[in-house]
Amino acid sequence: MRCPRCGDEADKVVDSRLLPGGDAIRRRRACEACGHRYTTYERIELQLPLIVKKQGQREEFGREKLRGGIVKAMHRRPIPADTVDEFLRSVETRLAELGEREVPSTLLGDMVMEFLRKQDHIAYVRFASVYREFRDITELLDEVRQLADDESAASGTP
Ligand SMILES: [Zn+2]
Repeated sequence: MRCPRCGDEADKVVDSRLLPGGDAIRRRRACEACGHRYTTYERIELQLPLIVKKQGQREEFGREKLRGGIVKAMHRRPIPADTVDEFLRSVETRLAELGEREVPSTLLGDMVMEFLRKQDHIAYVRFASVYREFRDITELLDEVRQLADDESAASGTP
């Protein structure tokens, strides 16, 4: 690193710390020429594919945009913010690991559906009703009935 005070390129790391969330490291550095201390951040560079929307437009993956959709669906539902952060990180990792240049936006929608289905059924149905654009009330009711069946299966009641 070039010292921001004197411009010398010799420095040593005096402290390294993993940031909460684990996706970045903060380093304190000291310039060996003038002793000035400064901070750098190191992050994993993820090669994320472009998201192809329904009408064919491409856009960059937007973590905050995706968060917005989830937060709206889980309004007043008991899902901790940490859980959502963790999910969003896992989405980025999964996208990067695909190694594709482009993926359909439905892939993101499906990941969110899968996540919300496990977290909270109310939030899931809210998201699903927007995402799947239920054609009529029957389709929505079928979905809700399916969830109810899953719940009773999980709790052991017939
Ligand atoms: Zn310096």
